[in-house]
Amino acid sequence: MFKGIYRGKQVHADDTDLLLQRAIKAGVQKLIITGTNLAESKEAIEQIEQSEHKDMLYCTVGCHPTRCDEFDAFEQGPQGYFDALLAIAKQHAKVVAIGECGLDYDRLQFCAKETQLHYFQKQFDLAEITGLPMFLHNRNTGGDFYDMIKTNRHKFKHGVVHSFTGSIDEMRALIDLGLYIGVNGCSLKTEENLQVVKEIPEDRLMIETDAPWCDIRPTHASHQYLSKIPAEEQACYSPPSKKKEKFEPGCMVKSRCEPCTIG
Ligand SMILES: [Zn+2]
Repeated sequence: MFKGIYRGKQVHADDTDLLLQRAIKAGVQKLIITGTNLAESKEAIEQIEQSEHKDMLYCTVGCHPTRCDEFDAFEQGPQGYFDALLAIAKQHAKVVAIGECGLDYDRLQFCAKETQLHYFQKQFDLAEITGLPMFLHNRNTGGDFYDMIKTNRHKFKHGVVHSFTGSIDEMRALIDLGLYIGVNGCSLKTEENLQVVKEIPEDRLMIETDAPWCDIRPTHASHQYLSKIPAEEQACYSPPSKKKEKFEPGCMVKSRCEPCTIG
């Protein structure tokens, strides 16, 4: 989407550089590109190496629960896929976390539960071997995610459960396991979400954009609070936007979240 490609179709020009400039103006000093499978983890490294803003860019390496079929489908088999992820994570100083990995039972149409569980388990090994922290995804998994973390907690030092949308009890249980809670626009949709987020201890709270996803929308409970942000900050955190079909270089694209919105 930062390259202007939506569902495989080029809709507008690549504006990665312009959006990084907006991020810098908003006070962003470093950012992490999420690897969601082997190909995208590789692409993240390439993107960093080619960027004019190389110094501020970092990435994760891992496989998202909805992409875990790729382990079995890989030409050199699941172990080959694992080894390839490991090689990237070991070789590049820009890799700062293992992930995004975890469980997602809202989207089982992309990958079956058993497959998700099996390859989430494998990715704890990536964290253990590399010593990197974990960037974790959990969606509607009952106690399965918690149980997996608990069983494997000795394998990694730090971890953040990103895009958190769970209950206060779920949040507290994860904090008791020493994890951080990551919050973005998707964590702030309902009044109930807001109540949970208020209870996160500050020293366990991380904020993220999850760009290009999870922007704050007018229908969200959090939206009313945006008007309280002073105008000069609004200008940095929420610059003018255009629909993607009416793209203008220098403007944000409607519904495409980007790093400057972190403010
Ligand atoms: Zn996620």
